[in-house]
Amino acid sequence: MDIQSSLRNMNFNISTLSPEFARVVIVDPQKDFTIQHGGSLGVPGTEAGSGYIERVIEAMTFLKSCGFTILATQDWHPSNHLSFASQHPNKKPFDTIMLIRTLLNMEEQFEQVLWPDHCVQGSEGAEFFITEDLIDFSFPKGTHKNFDSYSGIKDDGGIKTELHSHLKSLEKVASLIIYGLATDYCVYATVMDAVDMGFDIILINDLISAVHPEGGEKAIELMKATGKVVVCDSIL
Ligand SMILES: [Zn+2]
Repeated sequence: MDIQSSLRNMNFNISTLSPEFARVVIVDPQKDFTIQHGGSLGVPGTEAGSGYIERVIEAMTFLKSCGFTILATQDWHPSNHLSFASQHPNKKPFDTIMLIRTLLNMEEQFEQVLWPDHCVQGSEGAEFFITEDLIDFSFPKGTHKNFDSYSGIKDDGGIKTELHSHLKSLEKVASLIIYGLATDYCVYATVMDAVDMGFDIILINDLISAVHPEGGEKAIELMKATGKVVVCDSIL
């Protein structure tokens, strides 16, 4: 495949997918990640007037009408979560720090980006910006105080989420339609872990947005480079 064709997006064709063999995974459709709702970690591209939320709702309504089951991840942090800059003296949002974790009985250093307080359990910002009737099952992530979880499938401490066991139980499902926020963090991490689980991924380009535009471009290229991810411009 030449570079031009590898960069070109595919058109989404609903008729190639059966609801029996695919699921929709929307990553973190929460108020704190949208500028339209005044979220503490509003992602560029989610401003009022951007049409982002409206596109998400329209796409989900369509997918549900086609019979697809919709799964949502939900960032759901305790108020003293280690990813919050407020928990680290003299640090501010978007600084990075080095932390130590133990994985497979090995201590290792890892870099943590510090965020504004966001998606605190029970807060308004943690609420979905879509109505619950559009979501069939929701799965919390980032619930452990000491570990972030950009991925909806496993956290930075290596603990698998309820979404992991749910997906694993779906023996007939081979493909996941994935979109949500943000391209360069939680969408990217969720897609890569889903690829590791063996799924084919259809990523919907007009229903994702990045914290940093160049990070979003890089994430899309890395996802495509797995050979298991196709990027479609839109659902409709
Ligand atoms: Zn978070």
